[in-house]
Amino acid sequence: MSFTEHLISNTIRPDLRATGAYHVPDASGFIKLDAMENPYPLPEPLRAELGERLARAMLNRYPSAGDYATLKEKIRSRLGVPAGYDVILGNGSDELISIMTTACAHQERRAVVLAPEPAFVMFARSAQMAGMDFVGVPLNDDFSLDMDAMLDAIARHRPALVFLAYPNNPTGNLYDAYDMAHLITAVGETGLVVVDEAYQPFAQQSFMPRLPEFANLVVMRTLSKLGLAGIRLGYLSAAPAILQQFDKVRPPYNVNVLTQTAAEFALDHLDVLDAQAGLLRTARDALALRLAGLHGVEVFPSAANFLLIRVAEADAVYAKLLSHKVLIKNLGKMHPVLTNCLRITVGTPEENAAFFDALSASLASHRRI
Ligand SMILES: *Cc1c(COP(=O)(O)O)cnc(C)c1O
Repeated sequence: MSFTEHLISNTIRPDLRATGAYHVPDASGFIKLDAMENPYPLPEPLRAELGERLARAMLNRYPSAGDYATLKEKIRSRLGVPAGYDVILGNGSDELISIMTTACAHQERRAVVLAPEPAFVMFARSAQMAGMDFVGVPLNDDFSLDMDAMLDAIARHRPALVFLAYPNNPTGNLYDAYDMAHLITAVGETGLVVVDEAYQPFAQQSFMPRLPEFANLVVMRTLSKLGLAGIRLGYLSAAPAILQQFDKVRPPYNVNVLTQTAAEFALDHLDVLDAQAGLLRTARDALALRLAGLHGVEVFPSAANFLLIRVAEADAVYAKLLSHKVLIKNLGKMHPVLTNCLRITVGTPEENAAFFDALSASLASHRRI
């Protein structure tokens, strides 16, 4: 072994050395429908105004407590946080997931993170990085919660954290709200249940108003899918005593002044972002209908800004789409219930049409073989 190889094996944890990196593909030159981004930029006059606000941001100063307080107040009042509940902010909800796993990673006994699978990959990844065990409970074939298996796993593993994405990524469906309430109650005082509402602008369903009903409920959201993926801002709410503990893990200046300024600006113009989300919901339903009309394509119901479909040969279709310069996500190998599944982010009408045409062409060429 070389010096560096010795150095790495002497310093870096073995489980980390054995882990692959989170791969972000280079999308330049592609119609990018792989990452659930909002395809619409802010309208030009708003961008100019935002530019002026950003120019006045105090880049020489650390973010101030007062600035965070203003942003939090806008989030609480405009995004439906119940009275008496505060939020904490994260550098994307990815950071909030990592803050929660760090906070719950007991050292004297292995603590457990539990989530239905397939789920957002950061749940398992953050659990591992924090030194927690991850337990994945397979969803039913229709992507609903397998309640018997979930209740069984909860009783057996006593998870400190349960993650439920509502709607779920990558399947796109909303779990039954009654089932979720049942799980939150079953976990009870032994664990926190995090309802991840990254797609709330498209689902228009939320557990946020139900925070007062469940003392162990955490509701997490992000501005990413609403149209601000680039600024990295996530927020979560829970009972004040829980937030106090999470806040000890949060690096004091985790949200930078440019993000804080841009987020406040966006919340002052929430109507613009909401209108864009409305366009995307309409486009999602229209695209789902067209896809359902294609021979050999199964479309699953979606409450998010993406669609999950199943085709006969996902790898071949995915490659064909790449050759048409359309980038989507191939999930066929992620989990057995996703065999031959592809995930398409809903884009502009032009992007959706380009995807649809490329998909039709690739299915047709495939059938001729
Ligand atoms: C995209 C996504 C997130 C990540 O959001 P960021 O705020 O951009 O880190 C969290 N949860 C789910 C389910 C997602 O799909």
